[in-house]
Amino acid sequence: MINSKEYQVLLYYKYVQIEDPEEYAMEHLQFCKDLDLRGRILVADEGINGTVSGTIEQTEKYMEAMHNDPRFADMTFKIDEHEGHAFKKMHVRPRSEIVSLRLEDDINPKQTTGKYFEPEEFFEAMQDENTVVLDARNDYEYDLGHFRGAIRPDIEAFRELPEWVENNKHLIEGKRILTYCTGGIRCEKFSGWLVKEGFEDVAQLHGGIVSYGKDPNVQGELWDGQCYVFDERISVPINKKDHVVVGVDYFDGQPCERYVNCANPECNKQILCSEESEHKYMRGCTHECRISPRNMYVKEHDLSEEEVQERLAALEEDIKQEV
Ligand SMILES: [Zn+2]
Repeated sequence: MINSKEYQVLLYYKYVQIEDPEEYAMEHLQFCKDLDLRGRILVADEGINGTVSGTIEQTEKYMEAMHNDPRFADMTFKIDEHEGHAFKKMHVRPRSEIVSLRLEDDINPKQTTGKYFEPEEFFEAMQDENTVVLDARNDYEYDLGHFRGAIRPDIEAFRELPEWVENNKHLIEGKRILTYCTGGIRCEKFSGWLVKEGFEDVAQLHGGIVSYGKDPNVQGELWDGQCYVFDERISVPINKKDHVVVGVDYFDGQPCERYVNCANPECNKQILCSEESEHKYMRGCTHECRISPRNMYVKEHDLSEEEVQERLAALEEDIKQEV
């Protein structure tokens, strides 16, 4: 029998001192290429943050090699089955941080971080009324799926989160704060920052949303929608008990879990959009993006100028009817 899921996607990180990140990144890239892996890895003197895809054999070899390195001996790998590679290329990049928070006074999560809650403890704590659940991810990640009742910071990048908290302290003050992210790496620093800012009761979801979905007891319960991931899959399911769709189509507000990029490469905005809306709006998030001479949708579908004009006219007709 042929197993169609003969690939795996690995997600992992570790805060640990790496002496020469530039050199390590070069060696590690070669090592990954020799194994035929694909993915994206960041290396800094504070640690490693990676996600790679490959066949089961390649990924098993990779994990074994990493576990043989004393620095990464206890590193946890979150493993998803997949039907092929989830990336086109292999990158290993040296950076100043493995997640980009850019604090003036950087946090070392090995010294300062929130309490670690395992999925079951997190599940129980979420239901306590003196608790607030604060999403540590970006707005477009939240919009595809999140913990039921979680606070949505309207930020487009992680480094904007501290300023958002400073402006919205009233939402979380005096409460136990539970925070979470995809795999747990962002919360290590973010919960540490909250502690340093004087918030007394701060906990983070250990292993992130991905581990929460794999936990045999909670099975992703109280998660609504899908989980956004930074590879070609874009989204993965979490709640094995009951799946609720929370995403809505950018154009018509209908339930939707399908992310596309705006067809204007100069915009490239990520929008939730059904196939029907994609055709109707030529995958352009605004009129300007639809008429952009570089609109990729128009190119992909080989639309003539006349056809483009027809679709624009149909949209105008739509708007008139609404008014
Ligand atoms: Zn656009």
